[in-house]
Parts: sequence; structure tokens; C-alpha cells
Amino acid sequence: MTAAQKPLQRLVVIGLGLIGGSFAKGIRELGLFREVVGFDLDARSQALAVELGVVDRCADTLEQACQGADVIQIAVPILALERVLEHLAEMDLGQAVLTDVGSAKGNVVRCAARAFGTMPPWFVPGHPIAGSEQSGVTAANSALFRRHKVILTPNAQTDPQALALVEHLWRALGADVESMEVKHHDEVLAATSHLPHLLAFGLVDSLARHHENQDIFRYAAGGFRDFTRIAGSDPIMWHDIFLANRDAVLNILDVFTADIERLRDALVAEDGHHLLGVFTRARVAREHFSKILARRAYVDVMNSNNVIFLAQCGGALTGHLRVPGDKSISHRSIMLGSLADGVTEVEGFLEGEDALATIQAFRDMGVVIEGPQQGRVTVHGVGLHGLKPPPGPLYLGNSGTSMRLLSGLLAAQPFDSVLTGDPSLSKRPMNRVAKPLREMGAVIETGPEGRPPLNIKGGQRLTAMHYEMPMASAQVKSCLLLAGLYAKGTTSVTEPAPTRDHTERMLRGFGYPVTVEGRTARLEAGHSLKATKIEVPADISSAAFFLVAASIAEGSDLVLEHVGVNPTRTGVIDILKLMGANIELLNPREVGGEPVADIRVRSAALKGIDIPEDLVPLAIDEFPVLFIAAACASGRTVLRGAEELRVKESDRIQVMADGLHTLGVKATPTPDGIVIEGGAIGGGEVFSHGDHRIAMSFSVAALRAIAPIRIHDCANVATSFPNFLELAQKAGMHVNKESAS
Ligand code: NAP
Repeated sequence: MTAAQKPLQRLVVIGLGLIGGSFAKGIRELGLFREVVGFDLDARSQALAVELGVVDRCADTLEQACQGADVIQIAVPILALERVLEHLAEMDLGQAVLTDVGSAKGNVVRCAARAFGTMPPWFVPGHPIAGSEQSGVTAANSALFRRHKVILTPNAQTDPQALALVEHLWRALGADVESMEVKHHDEVLAATSHLPHLLAFGLVDSLARHHENQDIFRYAAGGFRDFTRIAGSDPIMWHDIFLANRDAVLNILDVFTADIERLRDALVAEDGHHLLGVFTRARVAREHFSKILARRAYVDVMNSNNVIFLAQCGGALTGHLRVPGDKSISHRSIMLGSLADGVTEVEGFLEGEDALATIQAFRDMGVVIEGPQQGRVTVHGVGLHGLKPPPGPLYLGNSGTSMRLLSGLLAAQPFDSVLTGDPSLSKRPMNRVAKPLREMGAVIETGPEGRPPLNIKGGQRLTAMHYEMPMASAQVKSCLLLAGLYAKGTTSVTEPAPTRDHTERMLRGFGYPVTVEGRTARLEAGHSLKATKIEVPADISSAAFFLVAASIAEGSDLVLEHVGVNPTRTGVIDILKLMGANIELLNPREVGGEPVADIRVRSAALKGIDIPEDLVPLAIDEFPVLFIAAACASGRTVLRGAEELRVKESDRIQVMADGLHTLGVKATPTPDGIVIEGGAIGGGEVFSHGDHRIAMSFSVAALRAIAPIRIHDCANVATSFPNFLELAQKAGMHVNKESAS
């Protein structure tokens, strides 16, 4: 029989205050027991509890209350609990399940073990993370626990049925129930609840006592009110909690006191750098926390694949657009800025989640980074040898670039590190960097089949080497060059085909000598990086969607401003031009070592081509949208030598072929590419499998479709192109987010 089906006669609640009263009232309203009986030392609370409908009746003694109970909930102040447990231990409780709500669990478990001789298996300790500054039965609120967490701390001996029953009751009240070990519970609560209360009480008392004239409160603003709200909580209850959870509170208080001392020292020494470090890190942590608090806006969105784009057919693109900053250059600006001596100012930074993951990783390694704010970031470099051990694993979200580049850098640091990512990144191959790094002397462990997480052992002496890359990959090349900054001798990397050279260019921009001869890049350890100013050009990979869109949509004439046209990235332009696109580079210029231009694109009749294999690495990220160009072209387009596409954020060849099929386009995948016959595009439902570039590509396809296209799993567009929908609409596309149920 499950907990939910068990016929329940009597719930007894001992202690009819805020928490006990709310529990009793909520359960009574749900009718889960035939009777809810209360017991409280305070006769007035007992009378009020009946009057307010909190319980059916109250008993005069604890013995009378507990007779025939199925469940006994103890909700008395925590220091009163021992006495209650001793009293209960003297009674015959029959089959009753015992539980409690005490805010510190170690103390409860110790008291129970003392009272009963051992911790009874039918006692399930619990703690609702809910409350208010009010107390007493008049504050009882049956909705108090809705959408709040309740932590249960069972042990190995706890009876599973007793546990299931207690869980069932809390869930019925709308709570999210979790289990935790007692010690962990007490440490977590000491840090997140008890310490803040101690500080709030302490601060208000200190100001009140030391500022006799009380002016301080008269002029106190919102910050003071927010910070000290919890000093209005029940003093007796908190007195009890601090004594009950003394050890865990002392531990965290010591950590905090040392940090406050350090802040004080920084203030004495006018060490603004330290202050800024603490404040910028705290702000990011707080923002992250606020997002977690806004569950609907965060957890649900992040977990939901079902952000749907609805792209209506037709439209023409006109006007001037500036797409967001280049992702590759944004990543590298943070990495090299962090390793430089001095302060690097970055403008045009892409505020997508991938590049933000890189910022967070360097913050975790002690680098002070201000921003990003409207594309501006200030990086207070720590020098090549100034990174600090991160407090825990570095979480890199969905960003393969961060993981692969950082692995080279971290392999050479004096400390150990662990690199992790989201489920999608955790499936991507990392041996391509781990293997050559090991040849340089790095000690790196990967997960099964060379997947993340990466465990990197610090303190290794790397030796430079020459590496002939088996595949063309800018990430592998960059990873090895970054490791080469620390490796004894000259590190050189030869690529089989040209790949992005942003790392080489930017290293030089930071004053680090790099030589490039043919397809070999070479550098030597022993130099340093000097802080600089970086203006990140607009990302050609983002511009690519509009290059194809304006080419295929009749009547289009669009200018994309300030786009990075690094020759290792312009494969998409070359391929489109071979297909007959009308693309002009206006006002070419060089900004911070990177070539930049405005790009004018007008509609043109495209034709199918055999894509030259040497252009493949130069357009590797742009193929999903180039497949759309191919679908709109006359004749057949053939892509070869692009097996890399199968291990991107998704198997881009298969996922695109599936979507194109749905739209009535003939697309035949091959092991290393695809063959696409141009023709009419229909409408329908397609799936991006969480791949942002595929989601945007099918939005573009709708310009030539004969019916609307609904694209599933579009949440990840925010990772690479946060304002895609806004810009697409501004340019003349009819694509919108559809709210999914
Ligand atoms: P409360 O409003 O002060 O209620 C406690 C009630 O228990 C009072 O009516 C008190 O009566 C009664 N009581 C005291 N000793 C008793 C005894 N031996 N037998 C029967 N009744 C007794 O406190 P609360 O806020 O509900 O807190 C109760 C428990 O919940 C505490 O263990 C606390 O740690 C935990 N908790 C509180 C919060 C919160 O935010 N308030 C959150 C989570 C957990 P008198 O008034 O006569 O003393």
C-alpha cells in the first residue's frame, strides 16, 4: 500500500506556532486525515488554533493528543524539542510516524538518540525552508510551504514507508521535497540562513548602540532596510537555532571573518583591485542567484527545449544592421586580457552565454573583470603566472571553445583544475586536445571516450613540440599555442588547411611574438603579454544568416556593418559568391589587427556548386545556413570533407538533412558532407535539436517557403546570438517566438 493510499486517521501537531500551525491548517484543509489534533503549552494558542480552523481540536495533555496518532509533527522551538522527545519516549506511540521541523538537524538527531536510546527508524527529521518574521498561531498560513523547499534528513535505518508518508504530506502542501545528510544540511543552513541572520542582528544592534542619536536610522535608505529585514525575526527562536547549530555556524563565521579582515586590509592599503574583485564576483553570483530564485524565468526555460520559433513565409531584407560581436574574438579577449600585465579594455564584446562562461572561469581563477555592460568589459590582467586555483570545477556551459582553449592554458598552471560543461558539451570529443597536450607533458584525464569532464593535474613542466594537426581545427591550434606560452622551447603547429587565426593575431596585438609561415604558427615561451584595447568586430558567423537571407529573398538590399572579414573566416562569402551571390565589401579597414568591412548584399539567383574542399574549414560554422542557400539554388550543391560537422553542437549534417526533408527538399547525407538538390521549399515542423545555428537557418529558409515553418528547441539561440529575433524582424523577416505550453 502506498503512502498516498493509506487511510489516515489522526495527525498530531505539537507546537501550534507559525510553522506547526501552518502545517496543521494546510493538511486539515486538504482533508488528508480524519482528524487534526493540536497540542501547545500555551492555552491561548490552543484556543486560537481551534477558533482559526488550524486544528479540529486540542488535547489537554501530550499523552491524550498522541493516542492513536498516525503522524506526530513536532513544531516546538528547537531547544524545547529535547524535552518533548523525552516525554514521547515514555509513551506507547503505536505505529505512529514521528517527524519535526527544527532548523538544525544534528541537534534534533542527537536529542532523539538520547531520548529513545537510538534514532528510531520511524522518526523522519525534516526542515521546511519557509517562514516569516511573524510567529505564533495567528500567523498560520496553509499556503506557507507552497513552492518552498523542505529538506528531509533520513539515515540508512529510516523506514522507507515512514519516509514516503512524510514526503507525501509535504508534497501535498505544495513543497519541493529533497533529502540531505544531517551534517550537510547543517552546514548549508549555517551559511545561507544562520550566518545572514547573525550579521543582520549584529549590524542593527551595533549601529543602534554606537550611534546614540539614532540619526543613522532616520537617514537609512532602502539598502539598509533590505539588508536588515531579517533582524526583525523572533529573537528566542534564533537564540535557540544558534545554540543548536553552534559548530556549523562557527565554521562559516570563521571563514567569513577572515574574508572581512581581508576586505578591511584592502581598505587600509587602498587596494581597490581587491575591492573590485570581491564586488564584481559578488554581483555576478547574486545575479545568478536571482535567476535561480526566479524559477519560472530560469530553471524552467533552461530545462525546456521547447522554445519554438514560428517563421512566416516571404519577406525582403533592407536597411543597415550590426550583428553582435565575434564570439571567437570575445573569448580570446578575456583569455589574453587575463594573462596580460595591465588593464585591457574590450568593446563590442558578445554578451552570449558562451563568452560569459569564459569570463566566469577567469573570475573563478582570481581575475577581476568588470562588465560586460553594453559590450564593454574591463579585464584587470594578472600576468602569465598570476592565475589562482579556482574554488571548484570550472563550469563552461555549452562552450566548446572555452573548454578546448582553457585546457591548454590550465595544463601549464601550478594548480589542478577540473573542466565541466552542460550535457551537450559533455558529449563532445576532447581527445583532440588532450592527446597532443599529453605529448607536451600535460597530465589530463578525460571522461569515457575522451569526453568531458577534463581533470587537469597542475605543476607539470611542459616541453614545446611541433605538432602536425590531423584535422584542421582552430581550437586545437589555439589550445597548443596557449600551452606553448609556458612550454620550454618553441611550440609550432602545422594545420592541414587554414583555420581561424584570431589567437595568433591577438597574441601579436598583446605584444607576444608569433611567427606564421605557410600553415605553421610558431611561438616561444618567455615573453609577456601587455594589456591593450580591443574592439571586437561584428561576427561573420552571425552575419552569415543575413548574407544568405538577403541573397535568397527577392527585393533585398542590406548592409551589415563593421563585420570582421578575417580571411580565415570569409569562406561563407567565397562560397556564396561562387553560387552567384551579389556581395560587396565596402570601406575595408583594419581594427586591432583584424580586417573589418561593411558588407552589402542584394538578392541574386543562386546556382548549385561543388563546394571547394579548401573552403570548408573557413566556413565550418556557416554550413547550416549555406545548406539553405543550396536548397534555394538551381541545381545540385555538393559538400565534401566536412565530417567535422557531425560532432558540432549536433550532428549538423543529419539534423539539417532531416529538416530539409520535412520541407520537401531533396538532401542526401554522405559520411563527410551532403548533396542538396535546389527546388521549392515547403512549410512544416522542424527540429533544431537544441542547435542554435540550425534554429536560425530554418528561420531564414522561411523567406522562400510556401508555408510557415515551426522550429522546435530554439532556446540555445540566446547562447550565440541573443538579439537574433529582434534584428531579423528589423531587417524584414517574419519570425517570432511562439510561447510553448
Ligand atoms: P513559534 O511561532 O514560536 O511557535 C512555537 C510554538 O510551540 C509556540 O506556540 C510555543 O508556545 C510552543 N511550544 C513551546 N514549547 C512547547 C512544548 N514543550 N510543547 C508544546 N508546545 C510548545 O515558532 P515557529 O516559528 O513555529 O518555530 C517552530 C519550529 O520551527 C522551530 O523549531 C524552528 O526552528 C522551526 N522553523 C521555524 C521557521 C521560521 O521561519 N519561523 C522556519 C523553519 C523551521 P509558547 O509560545 O508558549 O512558547
